[in-house]
Amino acid sequence: MSALVTYALAGRTVTGEEFFEGIAGGGRQLAVQQMTTGIESVSCDAHGGHAQVAEIDQTPDGFGFTISGCCEELIDRAHLSAASFREG
Ligand SMILES: [Zn+2]
Repeated sequence: MSALVTYALAGRTVTGEEFFEGIAGGGRQLAVQQMTTGIESVSCDAHGGHAQVAEIDQTPDGFGFTISGCCEELIDRAHLSAASFREG
């Protein structure tokens, strides 16, 4: 049995200042794609499910990802994946 859990990071910057310096000049879309790929590659050891990006909220200050998955542990790990993303 698995219930869908949605955990929003909306409005919170998930990357650092260095990251945005690194992607200045049109790399932001690519960075979002790479982070989405990273998030969706996280799988749950307990249930075998994969994290999914339900929504991407882009603001001048950063990104907000709404991530859905089978349990909170999976979603937490997916957020860590996004937060640890570094360009190059
Ligand atoms: Zn799970």
